[in-house]
Amino acid sequence: MGTLAEIQTVTAGNELHVCPNCGYNRGFHTSFIRENTGKDEPVKPTPRRYHVILICPECGARYDVGWTCTLAEPDGASTGAHAAGNPLIPSGPGNL
Ligand SMILES: [Zn+2]
Repeated sequence: MGTLAEIQTVTAGNELHVCPNCGYNRGFHTSFIRENTGKDEPVKPTPRRYHVILICPECGARYDVGWTCTLAEPDGASTGAHAAGNPLIPSGPGNL
C-alpha cells in the first residue's frame, strides 16, 4: 500500500458519482477526517466536526466536496447524547 492520494476539492454539482480522475461511475467510499483545530484539545468534551472525504474505490483518489458532519467524541466522553436513547444508532447485537 502506498501513501494516500492527496485530497482534491471538488464541487458535487447536480450529482457526483463519477470519479473525475478515472471515470469510475459507481459512487464512492467515504472516510472521515477530524477537523484540525490547530490548538490544544478543549477541556470540555464536545462533539467533533469531521470532513467527509469521498474515496474512489477504483483509483483511490480522494475528494472533499465540503461535506462536514459532527460525530461523537472519540474518547467516549459523555456529551449528553447517549446511543441507547438514539433511534438512529443501533444499540444491541440484535440490530442489523
Ligand atoms: Zn477514480
